[in-house]
Amino acid sequence: MRIILLGPPGAGKGTQARRLVERHGIVQLSTGDMLRAAVAADTPVGRQAKDVMARGQLVPDDVVVAIVADRIEEPDCAHGFILDGFPRTVGQAEALERMLREKGLGLDVVIELQVDEAALIERVETRVAESGGAVRADDNAEALHERLEVYRTQTAPLVAYYREAGRLASIDGMRPVDEVSAAIDEAITASAARPAGGDRNLRESGHADRRSA
Ligand code: ADP
Repeated sequence: MRIILLGPPGAGKGTQARRLVERHGIVQLSTGDMLRAAVAADTPVGRQAKDVMARGQLVPDDVVVAIVADRIEEPDCAHGFILDGFPRTVGQAEALERMLREKGLGLDVVIELQVDEAALIERVETRVAESGGAVRADDNAEALHERLEVYRTQTAPLVAYYREAGRLASIDGMRPVDEVSAAIDEAITASAARPAGGDRNLRESGHADRRSA
């Protein structure tokens, strides 16, 4: 089972990804966690990513794509994975498509968590308040504003991208955590019932939103 969780910062991707790990026994691949680990370990990738992340901007596609490409080669990914925070740009989505196709794999479902912006700011503030001092470098008002803006301009186009491919399930992320989890499970079940070949519409390049409305 291969799932993408899509949604703005604070939408609950991490929380829901951890629940999916428990329920379905597949691994969570959070590019944010991987990059923070690289920053903490002061690796070359970490040194490249540190300031960009603190500002709330995106690490270059080639860096993130290389990390994910290596990670999905690991044996624990053989039964599937949940991508949390990746892809974040159309370029990353296209790179993912190529990676999976080379392995003869597809995506099951892309879950979009829809949350209103006031709630996002509140959730991140709560996360900061509850973290007991271990505050992420990008959990401040300025970086959060930038992360939301980056989401709107660079990541939100993926909603149309995956909708056109017939793989999008949009879920109201404002409901209680358990209800969101239940809705995600329903979407996964529905995707399993869908006939194969649902990814025929995915384009490799030249993304343009061709929907008429
Ligand atoms: P959140 O979901 O709260 O925005 P993440 O932990 O997913 O936070 O990501 C934190 C930061 O890590 C991002 O703001 C960005 O700088 C970097 N990052 C994470 N994933 C990606 C990605 N797929 N592409 C580029 N940068 C990324």
